[in-house]
Amino acid sequence: MGVSKLWPLLGDSMEHVPLSSCSGEKWAVDLTAWIVHGYSAGSSKSYVSERYVMMKTVFYRTLCLLKNGIIPIFVMDAQKAPNVKGPVLQHRSQSVFGHTKEEPTDRSGLAAINAMCQQLLEPIGLTVITSPSEAEKTCAYLNRQEVVNGCLTDDSDVFAYGAATVYRNVDFKEMTVERYSIDDIKKELELDRNGMVVLACLGGCDFGKGVTGVGPATVCELLKDMRKYEEDIVTRVLTWKENTELKALSEKKNQLKEMHKSPHCGDCKHTGKRPEHQSNGCGTCQTSKGCVDESTVPCDCLYHALKREIDPYDKELSVWKKALETEGFPNTELVKEFLEDDKMDYPVETVLKMPDWTPLAQQVKQYLNLDQDDLMAKMIPILVHMHLHGTLDVPGAKPLSILKSCKRNFVLCYQVPWERFEFDQWTPGALPPQEKTPDSKRGASQEVYTVDVECELFGKKYPTLVQQFTQSSSKRSKKTPWKRGATEDTSQGKLTDVFKAAKRKLFDEDKE
Ligand SMILES: [Zn+2]
Ligand SMILES: [Zn+2]
Ligand SMILES: [Zn+2]
Repeated sequence: MGVSKLWPLLGDSMEHVPLSSCSGEKWAVDLTAWIVHGYSAGSSKSYVSERYVMMKTVFYRTLCLLKNGIIPIFVMDAQKAPNVKGPVLQHRSQSVFGHTKEEPTDRSGLAAINAMCQQLLEPIGLTVITSPSEAEKTCAYLNRQEVVNGCLTDDSDVFAYGAATVYRNVDFKEMTVERYSIDDIKKELELDRNGMVVLACLGGCDFGKGVTGVGPATVCELLKDMRKYEEDIVTRVLTWKENTELKALSEKKNQLKEMHKSPHCGDCKHTGKRPEHQSNGCGTCQTSKGCVDESTVPCDCLYHALKREIDPYDKELSVWKKALETEGFPNTELVKEFLEDDKMDYPVETVLKMPDWTPLAQQVKQYLNLDQDDLMAKMIPILVHMHLHGTLDVPGAKPLSILKSCKRNFVLCYQVPWERFEFDQWTPGALPPQEKTPDSKRGASQEVYTVDVECELFGKKYPTLVQQFTQSSSKRSKKTPWKRGATEDTSQGKLTDVFKAAKRKLFDEDKE
């Protein structure tokens, strides 16, 4: 999808970064990519529906981004794709959704799926918008407007639409992601947005096959070569047909091919034979006997004069020739599609909101078959993390102490009990019944959630608790130096394992 064979070209400009390093960033997420991933994963499983796997993919990936402090803004494709995209969509709807539509640019099937995702995502407190055309186009636009820090998409078109930072291939196990920045790409490959548009135009993309016999590597070479022009390269390529200078040069190139090259000296590379130069000298070298080895004075014969004129344009001439032979070149509709912005007449909300629990519970029941207490068990660690990352104002979020340190996925964590949220009506009591005092009710202060939180993240927000924990654990280890694991707090036994079990479940599902 996107500009043909672009991703492999960008390999050297790509860096793997941990998701946690993107904390606080806003990402425009191309929802179609996740839907396609979910359906593809679902089609290989016979015991669950594709829709269930797709919704699960969208839900858990979203939670994972939120847990890492990333604010996703979901962007959905418009129901109607640009007409210029018709041929590729016909192919895609056949291969992914297994059906052919009479009108390939009509995406009503996708729109129905988008609507389900929107019903699930909005009650989490997230922004979901419908692009006026292509999701990746809107993602790029939001990126250029600095509404978001980057775009998460599989579609390399996003560069031609002008994205500055692109994220791709989140590894939800390793918690890493591939990051591409247009500044790095410029440095590595001389490819900027206009270069990407030329690449799409000549090398092919979703909107057209490009020029026959021209691959992306050739186009990249050509783009480097065209740096010498002051004029805009997109305009230059679009007006190739009318370019009289190139036409004249092309005629000269043909002339050169037909031309008989007179004998040249192997030493000075000028006209004449070497033995002649040795006895009578060379006119160009201005010698009367012998000649200058590897002379820097250019040869004055007609053949070389023509060659010197043509050489700087040789790469361009060969692509120019093929382009003029290609039917439908230039595809001006394609260039317009990439360079003209859609009208976006509404502001995009990028602040996370608290979940709307009742509709959210309905949606997760309907699509993921999760009960209310399961939902809370999954959401509580996420809310705690969003609170620590500072991406959501969670009312009543309050850590009570640090129980112990531990490791989760090789990351150093603290086990932290949190005061029960007042809005939580669904989590069963966090203390076993025998521990409850007669007047303790649901929501009473001794009911706590235990959540593993990354030490570094927790320490930034609650340095005093960390200090207290470090002091008390160093005291304990002094008292009982013989006992290994002395920092373990025995009070953890009083907490039920409900939360721990739920958390394990969440992590396991993340990894699917
Ligand atoms: Zn010579
Ligand atoms: Zn010479
Ligand atoms: Zn010559």
